[in-house]
Amino acid sequence: MTTDAAPHPQGSAPSQPDALVVSGVSHSFGEKRVLDTVSLTVPRGTFAVLLGPNGAGKSTLFSLITRLYDNVTGEIRILGNDVRRTPGAALQRLGVVFQSKTLDQDLSLQQNLLYHAALHGLGRPEAKRRAAEALDIVGLSDRAHEKVRNLSGGQSRRVEIARSLMHRPGCLLLDEPTVGLDIGSRESVINIVRGLVQRQGLGVLWATHLIDEIADTDLVIVLHKGKVLFSGQLPGFLAHTGAKSTREAFRIITGTTSTDEEAA
Ligand code: ADP
Ligand code: MG
Repeated sequence: MTTDAAPHPQGSAPSQPDALVVSGVSHSFGEKRVLDTVSLTVPRGTFAVLLGPNGAGKSTLFSLITRLYDNVTGEIRILGNDVRRTPGAALQRLGVVFQSKTLDQDLSLQQNLLYHAALHGLGRPEAKRRAAEALDIVGLSDRAHEKVRNLSGGQSRRVEIARSLMHRPGCLLLDEPTVGLDIGSRESVINIVRGLVQRQGLGVLWATHLIDEIADTDLVIVLHKGKVLFSGQLPGFLAHTGAKSTREAFRIITGTTSTDEEAA
């Protein structure tokens, strides 16, 4: 019997599984091993930054969590649900914003959201209620009937976040969601997601190569060449490496000089 399924004393709250648990997951493309026994945990109500340069394996890990690839090693659980053994239950609790843009440019914001809701089996009135709620959260209520094509990059990202919330997931994955955005849009996108963590207790895994997106309260998970080199709070990351700044800590732990285009 797993801990999740263990009985709890009468009157106490049921055990609350973590938003995401990855244990001992590896992945290879042919001979090339791009993930090497990766383990990480994102508790509920946590903003976790998956920090790694291009090629670290971030998107490959996301493909395993979302079941685009079958994970044949280790285990992945979303709110306690194993993605291999109970994929329906696991994916129902997962919201995803992929690295590439995936909205239909010629549909309205609302239509994009309703389509996603239909895929999740939601009835029309409920889907419309949730679309209005989700667009409100990302500050785009007044654009609901416009085509996505008319939006800026940052606004499109916000619609993708709104869409990812439609089926009310407990765990959210975002793969480099701020790449290509100007400073103002970056802040708006990250603040919306931080708000969701605080207000709704979502567990978020935010993949990035941009060190300056890390805040003091975040869980920091450093992925480098397919290996998790560190997982813990920011003060622990600095103490672990003896560094004075996050940038220096990253350099020390990975032995590299920069995270790609973000030169020191
Ligand atoms: P990141 O998202 O951190 O930039 P990726 O997960 O995209 O990293 O890539 C990790 C490594 O796996 C890279 O070396 C990349 O070239 C390789 N890779 C990614 N996808 C494939 C694929 N479909 N076939 C072969 N190699 C791949
Ligand atoms: Mg990637």
